[in-house]
Amino acid sequence: MAKEELECSFCGRKKPETNLLIAGLDAHICDRCIEQAHGIVLEESKQNDSSDLSAELKLRKPQQIKSFLDEYIIGQDTTKKVMSVAVYNHYKRLLQPPSQDDIDIQKSNIIMVGQTGTGKTLMAKTIARMLNVPLAIVDATVLTEAGYVGEDVESILTRLLQAADYNLEKAEKGIVFIDEIDKIARKSDNPSITRDVSGEGVQQALLKLLEGTMVNVPPKGGRKHPDQKFIEVNTENILFIAGGAFDGIDRVITKRLNMQAVGYSASKSDDIIDPDNLLQYIIPKDLKDFGLIPEIIGRLPVLTHMDPLDADTLRAILTEPKNAIIKQYKKLFAMDDIDFSITPGALDFIVEKAIEYKLGARGLRSLCEEILTDAMFELPSSEEKSLNVTKAYAEDKLTKTTLKKLKAVS
Ligand code: ADP
Repeated sequence: MAKEELECSFCGRKKPETNLLIAGLDAHICDRCIEQAHGIVLEESKQNDSSDLSAELKLRKPQQIKSFLDEYIIGQDTTKKVMSVAVYNHYKRLLQPPSQDDIDIQKSNIIMVGQTGTGKTLMAKTIARMLNVPLAIVDATVLTEAGYVGEDVESILTRLLQAADYNLEKAEKGIVFIDEIDKIARKSDNPSITRDVSGEGVQQALLKLLEGTMVNVPPKGGRKHPDQKFIEVNTENILFIAGGAFDGIDRVITKRLNMQAVGYSASKSDDIIDPDNLLQYIIPKDLKDFGLIPEIIGRLPVLTHMDPLDADTLRAILTEPKNAIIKQYKKLFAMDDIDFSITPGALDFIVEKAIEYKLGARGLRSLCEEILTDAMFELPSSEEKSLNVTKAYAEDKLTKTTLKKLKAVS
C-alpha cells in the first residue's frame, strides 16, 4: 500500500486527517480512535470496580479475613475474630439483593476499646487494605470543638469522598474510622465520669450518619468554599468503626464486676478476673456509664476490646508483621547494598526501653530511628557493606537524653 493511502482501520480516516496513525500487524489506528478506545476501557474498568468487592469477599470468608489480619497485626485475637465476622456480615449484607421477607440485617458498625497504640487504627487500615475500599480516619475530638455546627460531622464524609477520589459509588461502600470516640462522651479536661452536654450534641449529630441516611456533603469541606455544590452521600452501606481508649472505664468495669479493687481476683461467679486486662470484660452498659448515649451504643452493635501490649507482643511487632519495622530497615539498607542485621539482645533492649519509658508500640519506630540514624547517614557513602546492631551499639546510640526526648513527644 502506498504511504499516502494509509488509513485508520477503525474509523477510515486517511492519514493526513489524523494527528497520528499507529501501525499494527495488519491494521492502523488513529489518535482519535485510541482516545475513544481508552475512554471505553476506563468506563469498563469503572463498572468492574463495583464487582471487585464481591469478588474480594467471595474469596475471603471470616477465617481468611482473620488470616489476612494476622499477617499485619500481632495478637489481638478476639478483636480480629470479632472484626472478621462483622466485616464479613457487613459486606454480605450490602451485596445481597433486597430481600422479600421482612428480615432486615442490621449494620455491623464496630466499636473498639483499647489503650492508644494497641493497633486500633492499624486494624481499620488493614481491613480497608484487604477489601480495597476507601478509608477515612477522623478524630472525634475535632468534632467536639464545633459542637452542634452539624456540617462538621458531615466533614467526615468529605474525607471519605476524598479517599475515594470522589468516586461516590466507592465512597458509599467505604470505611470510616472514628478515633477517640470516648472524647465526645465527656469533657476532655475532666477525667471524672460525667456527662458533657456539647459532647452529647456531637453524639446526636453522629447518630444520623451511623444509622444510614442521605447526607449533603460539601466535597471540599465546609467552611472555605461556601458556594460549592453539595454531593449527596448515602451512608447506609458505609462501615463505621469507632475506637477509643476510654481512660477510666476500668473503674466502671471493676465496679460492675463487684470487685473491691483492681487486683482482687474473684467475682461472684467463680471466674478468675484478670486485673491487668479488665477491658476484656467490657459490655455496652459500661460505655453508657462512661457517657456515650444509648442510641450511639445501639448503632455500634459490635463491641470489642484491644489487649494491652506486653513485652512479647512488642518484640513480635518489631520483627513479625508483613511490614514489620525491622523488615523495613532491612529493605532500606539493602537498597544501598548494605546487609543489615540486629541481634536478639538488641531487640530485647529496644523492647525494654519502650516499656520502661512507656512508649508503647508507637515508640518502637522512634527508638529504631534514633539507633539507626547515624548509620543511615554514614553508610550509603562509605565502603562498609554490612551493619550488625548489637545491644552495645543500641545502648551507645540511645542516651538518656534521647529517651527523655522520645518520652516527651510520645
Ligand atoms: P491506636 O489506633 O490503637 O492508637 P495504632 O493502630 O495507631 O494504635 O498503632 C500504632 C502503631 O503501633 C502502628 O502503626 C503499628 O505499627 C504498631 N502496632 C500497634 N499494635 C500493633 C499490633 N498488635 N501489631 C502490629 N503492630 C502494632
